[in-house]
Amino acid sequence: MKAFSRVLRAQQKPWTGSRVSTRFYSPRPSGGPLSGPSRPLLDRNSGTLLGVTAGLLLGGFYVSHLETAPESGRRRFMAVSKRQEELLRTQALQETRAQFRGRILPLEHPLTQQVRRITRRIIVASNLGHLEGEGAAEPPELIEDPWGAPLGEGAADISRPPTLHPDREWAVLVVDDPSFVNAFAAAGLVCVSTGIMPIARNEEGLAAIIGHEIGHVAMRHPAELLSQSKILLPVMVLLAFIGLDFGLSSVLTNVLHSLPHSRALETEADTVGLKLMSRACYDPAAAPRVFEDMSRLEKGSQVPSFFRTHPPTADRVAHLKTLLPESYNIYNANPECVQLEEMRARGLLRRVRMNVI
Ligand SMILES: [Zn+2]
Repeated sequence: MKAFSRVLRAQQKPWTGSRVSTRFYSPRPSGGPLSGPSRPLLDRNSGTLLGVTAGLLLGGFYVSHLETAPESGRRRFMAVSKRQEELLRTQALQETRAQFRGRILPLEHPLTQQVRRITRRIIVASNLGHLEGEGAAEPPELIEDPWGAPLGEGAADISRPPTLHPDREWAVLVVDDPSFVNAFAAAGLVCVSTGIMPIARNEEGLAAIIGHEIGHVAMRHPAELLSQSKILLPVMVLLAFIGLDFGLSSVLTNVLHSLPHSRALETEADTVGLKLMSRACYDPAAAPRVFEDMSRLEKGSQVPSFFRTHPPTADRVAHLKTLLPESYNIYNANPECVQLEEMRARGLLRRVRMNVI
C-alpha cells in the first residue's frame, strides 16, 4: 500500500493535470548529470542476467495486462484493481476538497445547482451512476428538462448503455475563482471553476466541457495513467541498477508526465464526451464551438490551466465536427430529446442562459 501511495504521488495527478516531480524516485543521484551512464551496482554478467530476467518478467506483466480500449480500439496497458481505483477516487476527492477549501460554492448556490443538473443528466442518461446525496435506489427525475418544462411519459423506457459502474457516486464541486480557468473529473468527481464559465457561455457549452471530462473517466484514463506509472517505476529502477540509464528514465518520465494528457486520450475523451452530451439531450454542436472560442481566447494571453491540458487545435475542432452527424443520430434516437426539440419548436420551451457570475 505504501508503494502504491508513492506511485500515486509520483505520477502526474490525472484529475488535475498538475505536474508532480518524479525526480525523487529517479535512481540517478540528485544534481547528477542528465546524461551518461551511472556506475553499475553489479558486475557485468550478474547485471546482464538480472536485467534479462527482470526485463522478461516486466515484459510479460506488460503484455498480459494489455487490453483494447472501448470506442477507439486502441491497445492500452491497464493494471489497476477496483480497490486501487477506489483509492484513487477517494484521494482525488480529499485532495481537491483540501486544495480549494474556502472557495467551493455551497450546494444551494445557483451555479452549483446548474453544474449538478448537467452532471446528473449526463451520468444518468448513460448509466454512469448518480450524484452524491441522491441515492441510486431513489434516482432523481430520470431526465430533468434543461429548458424548464416537465417531460411526458415514456422517458424511463430509453435504453441506457452500461458504460461504467452504475452504482458510482459522483461529487460535484464548483470552485469560486474567476481567474482559475479549469475543469476536471476523476472517478466520482466533477470539478468546475467559475473561471471557465465565460468560455462555456451557456448550459450546453458547459455540458460539452463536463461531458469531455466525464468521457475521460468513462474511458478509465485516470486508471490508465496510474498503470503507466506502475510499470515506469520498476523500469527506471532496473535501468539504473544495471547501469543502462543514460538519462532514459528522465526522458520516459517527461514523456509520461510532462505531457498532461496524451493526444490519444484527449481524442477519446472528445469522442466519448460528444456521445455523452448528445445522449443527455445537449446539442453536440456546442463542443466544437467551445474549442473554437478557446482558440481565440488563447492567443496573446497567459495560458490557463485548462488550455495546457486541452490545447484547442484546429485538428481538434475538425475532429469534433466530423463526429456531429453520428452525435445527432444519438440525440435523435432519444425520444426525450426529440420531445424537447418539438416543444422548443412550438415555443413551449426556451434555453436557459448560464448563471455566469
Ligand atoms: Zn481532456
